[in-house]
Amino acid sequence: MDFDYIVVGSGFGGSVSAHRLTEKGYRVGVMEMGRRWTPENLPTTNWRFWRWIWRPGLGLRGFFNIDPFRHVLVMHGCAVGGGSITYANTSLVPPDSIWECGSWAGLADWMREMPAHYRTAVRMLGVCENRILGPADLILQAAANEHGAGDTFYRTQVAVFEGPDGQPPGTTFPDPYFGGEGPERTSCIGCGGCMMGCRYGAKNTLDRNYLYLAEKGGARVFAETRVVDVRPLTGSPDGSEGYEVLTAPSTRPFGGRRRFTCRGVVVAASALGTLDLLFRLKEKGSLPRISPQLGHRVRTNAESLIGVRVPGSEEDLSKGVAIGSGFYLDAYTHIEATRYPAGSDAMGLLATVLTGGTPGRKRILLWLKLLAGSLLGHPVRTVRLLHPFGWARESLILLCMQTLEGHIGMRLGRPWFWPFRRVLRSYGQRIPTFIPQANQFARKLAQAVGGTPMSMVTEILFDVPGTAHILGGCAMAASAEDGVVDSQNRLFGYKGLYVCDGSVIAANLGVNPSLTICALTERAMSHIPPAMSTPAGSD
Ligand SMILES: Cc1cc2nc3c(=O)[nH]c(=O)nc-3n(C[C@H](O)[C@H](O)[C@H](O)COP(=O)(O)OP(=O)(O)OC[C@H]3O[C@@H](n4cnc5c(N)ncnc54)[C@H](O)[C@@H]3O)c2cc1C
Ligand code: SF4
Repeated sequence: MDFDYIVVGSGFGGSVSAHRLTEKGYRVGVMEMGRRWTPENLPTTNWRFWRWIWRPGLGLRGFFNIDPFRHVLVMHGCAVGGGSITYANTSLVPPDSIWECGSWAGLADWMREMPAHYRTAVRMLGVCENRILGPADLILQAAANEHGAGDTFYRTQVAVFEGPDGQPPGTTFPDPYFGGEGPERTSCIGCGGCMMGCRYGAKNTLDRNYLYLAEKGGARVFAETRVVDVRPLTGSPDGSEGYEVLTAPSTRPFGGRRRFTCRGVVVAASALGTLDLLFRLKEKGSLPRISPQLGHRVRTNAESLIGVRVPGSEEDLSKGVAIGSGFYLDAYTHIEATRYPAGSDAMGLLATVLTGGTPGRKRILLWLKLLAGSLLGHPVRTVRLLHPFGWARESLILLCMQTLEGHIGMRLGRPWFWPFRRVLRSYGQRIPTFIPQANQFARKLAQAVGGTPMSMVTEILFDVPGTAHILGGCAMAASAEDGVVDSQNRLFGYKGLYVCDGSVIAANLGVNPSLTICALTERAMSHIPPAMSTPAGSD
């Protein structure tokens, strides 16, 4: 065998798996579709979109992927280190109630087991309470007080090295986390650039902790390498004799296909990546036993991205860490103050005036009416509001999430506008495109700071919400009748084949998911015995 385990994807699930398996003495190969990023090659702003957006067919080889579906616009990461390169570092433990709903309820004594795994993930990711509150956080705090929810305001838990108290920002220290085994860190300067990749060595991305240690322990990472097939080796339809894994280059159109053999596989390609891969493998007969539940119960964390722009703001609202604080608007709704770094204004192209009304044609008409009225009544102010330049410096993005139950489905299909290839498509009931109480809050906040509330134009035109937290579709359950993996992340119907990423999440978390993905993967890996005691694939 080329490897004991091949890990598909190097995000949260993939990096934790790679590190823990290497530590247990296995020979690990990590196949990652995205590129490797360093402070030197990260883009300075998102106007350098060829280094920001991932669309290799068009020559765009960045780390940020946007996939439009009928029901949702999904934003996700694609890099060595997965979503950690572009994520906003927020690392929150969800409420205990999430373990009591969804198909994973009752599969384990979650509330007894999970705290230890969360503690490990927090330690490995270097999570701390954010000490750097920027102007946007202070505005959110004042608005939360005004709303009567000031007591729920909190500084986020962030995977960022903020340095010892009293030391100036931007100071470099030897590895502060792993007893000298890890790389050095430079303390955070609060530039707000986390979602563009940290160019200062302060963000605790996976290539500086889990994946770094995995590589140091012997794991081999194959960047720009896409897994296109995984099938059991001849003679073992359940994979008990191992698997062959076929890869293709992800950034070049032709050539370079490779075949690897291994005893076990961890699929950790993120919710969308794993669904896409497993659907194709099931349909072409490579892994025909995958549960028909694949693609069911995909969750978007019931999310809405709105914001407030303050044209000509004296304060630079982009300062701080990307998500510096949050509060609970009500028992189900959670709002976080989010930002892009000054100069990274490209997202401003998607921002428009907040529009109420019922989704559909009427809302589009209302939006056009509002826009026309605003242009005629206050032309200068409207242009200052809608042009993208200065957007990051002048805007406070409100990331709103709800713990309410709701999901869609995904399957492969041919879009009418491009019937030549089967791609992932969403189906099911529409997801609400806005959270009315959050919109109300944005209006009040805008009034208080002399700004204008904003929403994403896609919400209005296409009645489609945006999310950076797509989860589920490969849900954890008691049997293949209810889900796709068991309570230890093992794919039903196969031996030695695991799924460790956001796709296994079986409930709406209501908070950012990466810490939970890490903790669940820590738990899954803790059930795999060390290399010398049991051969891989014999679970
Ligand atoms: C802008 C932004 C901000 C965010 N902020 C936060 C935050 O503050 N806190 C938080 O908790 N979450 C945040 N998230 C979400 C977080 O990034 C994801 O939930 C998390 O990365 C999911 O982890 P994962 O292990 O499921 O997969 P990922 O981290 O997405 O990793 C999967 C990897 O698999 C690779 N891959 C896919 N298919 C293949 C294939 N066939 N072959 C090889 N490789 C493949 C992909 O390139 C990718 O690198 C944010 C996301 C975005 C986009
Ligand atoms: S705020 Fe700036 S320095 Fe701090 S972690 Fe984010 S990108 Fe790095």
